Amino acid sequence: MSSESGSKAPANAESSVVDVAIVGAGLAGTTMAIVLGKAGRKVALIDPHRVHHDEFRAEKTRSEQMQLFEKIGLGRVVGGLVTPTPEILVFRLGQFFQRKLDSEFAFSYGPLVNGLREALPTEVPLTVGKVAEVSTGPDRQRLVLVDGAVINARLLVVATGSGEAIRRAIGVERVEESKAHSLAIGFDLAISPQEFGSQCLTAYPRNIVHRIPFLTIFRIGNRMRANMFSYRTVADPWTQAFRANPQQMLLQMMPEIAAQCGNFAVASPVELRPVSLTTTRNHRRSGVVFIGDAFSTTCPAQGDGIRRVLTDVDRLCSTYIPAWLETPGMGIEKICAFYDDPIKIAADASAMRSSLYARAITTEAGLEWRIRRLRNNTARQLMIVARKMRHLGQRRTTAIREAT
Ligand SMILES: Cc1cc2nc3c(=O)[nH]c(=O)nc-3n(C[C@H](O)[C@H](O)[C@H](O)COP(=O)(O)OP(=O)(O)OC[C@H]3O[C@@H](n4cnc5c(N)ncnc54)[C@H](O)[C@@H]3O)c2cc1C
Repeated sequence: MSSESGSKAPANAESSVVDVAIVGAGLAGTTMAIVLGKAGRKVALIDPHRVHHDEFRAEKTRSEQMQLFEKIGLGRVVGGLVTPTPEILVFRLGQFFQRKLDSEFAFSYGPLVNGLREALPTEVPLTVGKVAEVSTGPDRQRLVLVDGAVINARLLVVATGSGEAIRRAIGVERVEESKAHSLAIGFDLAISPQEFGSQCLTAYPRNIVHRIPFLTIFRIGNRMRANMFSYRTVADPWTQAFRANPQQMLLQMMPEIAAQCGNFAVASPVELRPVSLTTTRNHRRSGVVFIGDAFSTTCPAQGDGIRRVLTDVDRLCSTYIPAWLETPGMGIEKICAFYDDPIKIAADASAMRSSLYARAITTEAGLEWRIRRLRNNTARQLMIVARKMRHLGQRRTTAIREAT
């Protein structure tokens, strides 16, 4: 792919002029296209695939993120694509710890993105194609697709996730802040949702030797799904052993939840997805913004990816893009206002900080981290004791009342 601006498209090539061209129709690109399209903006949305393939990506989101979907006007669409659960049973230190009355919302990533694509306004069709050339500047952005079609836009939004072609063509670099930071592990459990019950379950192993922050089990439609995270590589012998016999290793690691999980009988292959923490360099340039995973990636264990995506979409669609389009030009000062937005900076920084903290508190053997773990676990032990005493007190009161 070239970033030259003087190339010639075929004479019969279609040409369109839009306010915003969005390259990449994953979660970020598609939500942005819907929001801008509904606001009456002229938008081109380009992706090489009509149907987003089913892949192991985000499978669960929290109430705050559902509120962000509501805020950008997609609450109803997304609500119809997720499986809600009303409460979470939490296990820590080898025993039941608490019942959290907090909803979580589960989904498979491909169907979520495809469901959103179906909600695109008719004025914003998905253009299935590959970008062959891209040129950006302070006034107009120009894309030439492989079939020769030309798209002229006032603003280019790059939402290509981990795709590198467009970034490279523009000259924007990905910076690896923590290479192979964590490993996301996903598999289906054989137990049925009816046997499992209506809640989700999150269990934290009691021993740090496992290098596992937690295992979470939840319902997607009519199957029970498990996501586990690990601070290991795919090639690590532990990972290979887990892939070969997940049931045996889960029984050893978390016997306290085995009965609730159908003894960890597994009903699908174990999927592995390594994740690096990345940021972006040389992105401050006229005419183009990078959003979602195209701008930064953080650890999925913290579940902040969707929050970062939706924060980018919300800040751009509610504040920056309407203001930018009101005046001529798309100079660097406009673009920098988005990257310097305090809400965006805070969302990105907290996702990165919690990704680094979670790995350190789970794996670091130094004195400082051992003290932190001891402090946290002592507080949790006290909470368990207090809960047990409360429970005992309640039983005693009931017994006295019944006796008198
Ligand atoms: C295993 C895993 C588990 C995760 N779990 C969670 C979780 O529980 N909670 C959470 O909040 N986040 C989670 N995340 C993060 C979350 O999935 C991502 O942050 C989010 O999906 C990013 O969306 P996106 O639109 O930026 O990128 P993507 O969804 O990757 O979209 C990129 C799009 O760009 C297209 N594309 C690529 N190259 C080009 C090109 N040259 N031209 C045109 N189009 C192109 C692709 O086809 C794709 O459609 C997880 C991530 C992983 C890997």
